[in-house]
Amino acid sequence: MPRDFLQGAKDSYDIVVIGSGLAGMTAANMLGRSGYSVLLLEQHYKLGGLATWFRRPGSHIFDISLHGFPAGMLKSCRRYWNDAIADNIVPLKNVRFDNPMFSLTTTYNREDFTELLVNQFGVERETVKTFFDTARGMNFYDDQNVTTRQLFDKFFPGREDIVRLLMEPITYANGSTLEDPAITYGIVFSNFMSKGVYIYEGGTDDLVGKMQAEMEKNGVDVRIRCDVQKVIVENGAVQAVEVNGRRIGCKAVVSNANLRSTIFQFVGEDKFDKDFIDQARAVRLNNSSTQVYMALKPDEHIPEETGDLLFSSTANSFRTDLLLSRDITSRTFSFYYPRTRPTGKTRHAIVSSTNARWEDWANLSEEEYNASKQDLIETTLDALEKYVPNCRERIELIDAATPITFHHYTKHVSGASFGTKFEGLAVSRSLPDKVRGLYHAGSVGIIMSGWLGAINYGVIVANDVDQMLSKLAGAAEARNAV
Ligand SMILES: Cc1cc2nc3c(=O)[nH]c(=O)nc-3n(C[C@H](O)[C@H](O)[C@H](O)COP(=O)(O)OP(=O)(O)OC[C@H]3O[C@@H](n4cnc5c(N)ncnc54)[C@H](O)[C@@H]3O)c2cc1C
Repeated sequence: MPRDFLQGAKDSYDIVVIGSGLAGMTAANMLGRSGYSVLLLEQHYKLGGLATWFRRPGSHIFDISLHGFPAGMLKSCRRYWNDAIADNIVPLKNVRFDNPMFSLTTTYNREDFTELLVNQFGVERETVKTFFDTARGMNFYDDQNVTTRQLFDKFFPGREDIVRLLMEPITYANGSTLEDPAITYGIVFSNFMSKGVYIYEGGTDDLVGKMQAEMEKNGVDVRIRCDVQKVIVENGAVQAVEVNGRRIGCKAVVSNANLRSTIFQFVGEDKFDKDFIDQARAVRLNNSSTQVYMALKPDEHIPEETGDLLFSSTANSFRTDLLLSRDITSRTFSFYYPRTRPTGKTRHAIVSSTNARWEDWANLSEEEYNASKQDLIETTLDALEKYVPNCRERIELIDAATPITFHHYTKHVSGASFGTKFEGLAVSRSLPDKVRGLYHAGSVGIIMSGWLGAINYGVIVANDVDQMLSKLAGAAEARNAV
């Protein structure tokens, strides 16, 4: 008989959270901590969503999305998780760029970037200051018609090298492009520039293990291998979810799954008005990714000057279409030293990441797919040779992930790495106005994605749910008092 992954689960909870990405887990933790009964349902056999890891024989562990995030993670993890998690967040020292326009190493913060822009790129100090102040001053209510390209043209006209320096890491960090609203760039860039790039020392398995323990301490009922099929809506309000053949009642659902799956698959378009469905249909998905994971033989070392994060490119200019092309010219290498990523044994590892299009991988035959994956591995090794000489002989284990892999493990429509584009935020936020008790917390747009964005969005939505349930309880109390 198949195992019942819902064994012992109650028939109803205050809140069901669908998906254990960072936003889902954070919302569940906050709501559990506030005393609500919370059920967290994850379809995969592991928690974490895109913040996950995998093992390979020989005590190898690879992280998927542990490359870098802004210092804000320290505060968010301390406040909404616990000290043990926050205490493992440490700065990355060496961020490198290497492309036909320039090669440099930076601590990736405002002071260092100011000196680079003034001394190496020849920009007036006052212009740099005004640019930083403008980027930092942007907020959600700013004019969304100004694009990032227009922002750069205003401060650094004709300077494609500067555009590359300023944009390449942000495109990598959240898939944003020069054509996206400048506000999305300004907020994320300023978050990074405040104190540089940080990482979780100890690996994603340690982080997610600690998060699971904290959720369980706060009473959250955490279940893996629970694939939610439907959110039952009656009379304009959430009633229950259908999962693994059971109906589990709830007053609110927080969906951490892809925004499109939430609306079109879980709830169904007949439960919304036509204008909203048109708006939801117009939401664009973000791009997907490919990755190559490489572990060095135990006695092979990489000197730390190689960098922690290396934005490498062989393209003569910085263009969005080149970043997404199957003919890869830009790769972000993350170097994991034994200190930053302890595994079963002391070893150095490298993960190469690139943005990618779902369409380029989705319709291949099995043979073509395997050949493309092998080509991805070979061309990555060719590119790495410049930074890790003789890498082919020094690497013990190598594997790759494609948009199909990301889709397989997270169910994100088209393997989207950062959920949806910016317009998804308004749709995500207005869900509870359309169906009472229906919430979405997960990667939408550029601000609400990445590790920090996802955690913070989980907090915002947990507060919304808390308010709604408090009102509901208040109304019930008033009725009982009459
Ligand atoms: C290659 C790559 C590199 C990245 N690098 C970085 C980085 O360096 N720094 C950074 O800050 N961010 C990075 N990111 C982005 C970051 O990992 C994500 O933005 C963030 O983890 C997303 O969290 P989320 O809460 O939106 O949910 P997700 O991680 O998208 O998780 C959604 C969850 O919902 C579950 N689910 C879906 N459908 C169902 C269902 N029907 N029933 C039950 N569960 C369901 C999924 O299985 C999944 O666990 C990277 C992403 C990728 C792909």
